[in-house]
Amino acid sequence: MIEIITIGDELTCGRTADENSRFIAQELAVAGLGVSRIITVGDAVEGIIRALQDMLPGTRFVIATGGLGPTDDDRTAPAAAAAFGRTLGENREAMALMENRYREFGRAMPPAAVKQAVLPEGCRIIPNPVGTACGFSIDDGDRQFLFLPGVPEEVRAMTSGFLIPHILQASGSENCIVSRTLKVFGLWESQIHELLRGSLPATPAVSLGYYPQYPEVSLKITGTGRDRGAVEQEVEAFQHSISEIIGEYLYSLTGESLEEVVGALLNKRGETLAIAESCTGGLIAHRITGVPGSSGYFDRSVVVYSNRAKEALLQVPRELLDRHGAVSMPVARIMAQNVRQLAETTYGLAVTGIAGPGGGTPEKPVGTVFIGLSSAASTQARQYQFSGTREKIKIMTAQVALNLLKTFIQPRA
Ligand code: ATP
Ligand code: MG
Repeated sequence: MIEIITIGDELTCGRTADENSRFIAQELAVAGLGVSRIITVGDAVEGIIRALQDMLPGTRFVIATGGLGPTDDDRTAPAAAAAFGRTLGENREAMALMENRYREFGRAMPPAAVKQAVLPEGCRIIPNPVGTACGFSIDDGDRQFLFLPGVPEEVRAMTSGFLIPHILQASGSENCIVSRTLKVFGLWESQIHELLRGSLPATPAVSLGYYPQYPEVSLKITGTGRDRGAVEQEVEAFQHSISEIIGEYLYSLTGESLEEVVGALLNKRGETLAIAESCTGGLIAHRITGVPGSSGYFDRSVVVYSNRAKEALLQVPRELLDRHGAVSMPVARIMAQNVRQLAETTYGLAVTGIAGPGGGTPEKPVGTVFIGLSSAASTQARQYQFSGTREKIKIMTAQVALNLLKTFIQPRA
């Protein structure tokens, strides 16, 4: 039996939603490991101690997250020491790992960080591949307590990289785990569910997890079993079935982001990209430049928010803006074409739209977006109607623009 404790005042006061327990529980579930209880406590030492001492009978593993950082409100290590009657001291291994980490980051270690290496005596260190604070574990009788930092990104990395294999092994399971992440855009979680329902191989050793992250969904296939080769084959067959059903919406079989997929395509073909952004305000460029190596194919993005900017920087004719408005098919086309010609790139991509909440009209309501795409051979633009908040409309516009470019470069079979 496994219990999870998430620690932090930001959780108990409702400022932050607890993502960590959800992620850990999902990962444990796909590995065939059940969680009997999840509790959340604030940063107060007494509360953490009580939570650590008050486990259900039969609990073998307790996973705690949060409160291992350098600040005064991070009190999990002292609480753990008190709960198990241990002294606190500077842990040499944790210190060395942390020093290495700061060296890799090219930063001097701040004095406050030393606190992160002050841990209960006799604990075992759990390396953190992402951040600076190590995790640690303590054995108490036949129970093992595993402490991880609170930052969700670090929790995710340490759960997949350490926690699951560790618990499987420690609980005597000889199972290995094979997982694969597929990325879907164009279908919501419920639609994917509906399409796949009843059509996947009935393989008890393989499970499918849905991780929606607006505006896309990651599907994680996880297989478990003794024989790695056999599990890999089952996972492969499972993925094949999914591809048969929703293949046109799958843009990655290896978990890459859309901008990584687009970047790899441009790179492979030796092609280049320039962008003109109005309603996304640079969001597309931000995503493109988040990919290492993007300087090899990305030339520029001009954020032309006002009509004046569209005229001055992209030579969009005033007459076109007056006649059709900035949010229009002809303006999206000319933005795409002109940015491509000015930048002398293979492709020009342009977006113009009404992100709201104001600025809509009966003919062009909030969420009206035009996306233009230009290459030497052709220039096209399409109209879309998105909905939701300003932020969601921006996110969706960037996603659809990248997707349009991707399908233009690599038409679906
Ligand atoms: P740090 O070194 O950053 O201080 P930490 O181990 O002390 O790490 P916390 O201070 O508890 O962790 O949390 C770090 C960040 O992670 C905070 O922004 C916090 O809101 C977030 N966080 C902590 N626990 C959770 C959780 N269960 N779900 C989602 N976010 C969380
Ligand atoms: Mg902290």
